[in-house]
Amino acid sequence: MQSEVVNRQIQRLSGLRFMWLTFPKDLEERFEQETLKRRSRRLWLEGLIAILLFDLFLIADYYGSPDRFRRAFVLRLLVVTPICLLVNASVLRQPKRIFRESSIAIGACLAGLCQLYLEFDRSRVASAYVQMTVLAVVLFVNTVMRLRMPYALATTVTMLCGDVVFLWRDRMLEPGDKIFGLGLVLGVMAITLVGNYGSCREERLNYLLHLRGELLVADLNRLNAQLLRRSESDALTGLANRRSFDTQYRELWKNSLQTGTALSVVVVDVDHFKRLNDRYGHLYGDEVLKRIGSLLQQALRVKDDYAARFGGEEFVILLPRTPESAAMMVAERLRRMVELAGFPALDPSQGPYDMSIRATVSCGVACAYPTLRDKPEQLLDAADRALYQAKAQGRNMVVGAAPTSESSRTLI
Ligand code: GH3
Ligand code: MG
Ligand code: MG
Repeated sequence: MQSEVVNRQIQRLSGLRFMWLTFPKDLEERFEQETLKRRSRRLWLEGLIAILLFDLFLIADYYGSPDRFRRAFVLRLLVVTPICLLVNASVLRQPKRIFRESSIAIGACLAGLCQLYLEFDRSRVASAYVQMTVLAVVLFVNTVMRLRMPYALATTVTMLCGDVVFLWRDRMLEPGDKIFGLGLVLGVMAITLVGNYGSCREERLNYLLHLRGELLVADLNRLNAQLLRRSESDALTGLANRRSFDTQYRELWKNSLQTGTALSVVVVDVDHFKRLNDRYGHLYGDEVLKRIGSLLQQALRVKDDYAARFGGEEFVILLPRTPESAAMMVAERLRRMVELAGFPALDPSQGPYDMSIRATVSCGVACAYPTLRDKPEQLLDAADRALYQAKAQGRNMVVGAAPTSESSRTLI
């Protein structure tokens, strides 16, 4: 969901003018989905209260017109209440909006019209008071239950029609009373509709503000993750940088220590890189580093293997649970790959490729089964020493670390 859509809707609903409350399709569906559970539960509870109030009128029926009590009892308790309870229970199952809102509207109208029917032709007082019950139904539906606008409107119009028919057929009230009653009903109905519109608008506006907050947090999290990724990767090659290497190395060292498995390190250095830079330019040197970075990733096969740019034209590979023989194979694979493909195409203006100055790498390999007495730096030092040997022996080669006196405990 794009925040611009949400912002636009917030702006639209914040104005004072009347406008349709419906959102664009996707947002409307999301709104309906996210408010469905809460709304269904609230409507269910309020529905129960309404049914209870409706049945409590039996007391008034009993004292007001005992002769009609039987009819009232049957209609209220045996007809309207079961239907309304059924409708109410179905709301709990979180049906679609059209079913939920219309069934509540129908239930409310049924109860309201039943009240009009029961009070019809009873007494002047009853005819006058039943106007209040019509208003009570509309008030409850429009401002307490806050049915969605079209359904609130339909309930209001139905109750108005019922009341008009009631007053038209009524023989108890004077015409003046009827006009007063109808005027009162119309006025209050209009007020409840305005209230309904206002609260639906508030509800939607609150939802949008909440959603905007959620989207902002999601954006922030995404940006944070992006920043973290950037701060941990090398801008030129896309490999992990020195900072994240240090963390990963400590982590892998700890793991190997706990599991008693081997940890191998391959230190990779580009041969005569200075010469290559001098001959083809610094930018071309950068291209070579990028190419080597990508070959390095291809040379690694196991998911846990880890490559980083150590700095300048040096790279490092960490191979958890890997003995030195296997690490030597990985290093040799990389050396050969660079030998074959370590020179990106030259700009024609730079002339033909000088085969005496080409990108190759030397690798120093060391492996350890870490113990508590060892320091992680020892393993890196051993790999560095092996690299130095490779350089000394002519470059473009892989050399394994010879166990030294202080590292012979851990290195094989
Ligand atoms: P050796 O075989 O002994 O490693 O020789 P070398 O020339 O590779 O080593 P030296 O340490 O003398 O030079 C490294 C060069 O790498 C010097 C520096 O300009 C270059 N270099 C370091 N970082 C970068 C980089 O990001 N881009 C480019 N193009 N060159 C770099
Ligand atoms: Mg070098
Ligand atoms: Mg170097």
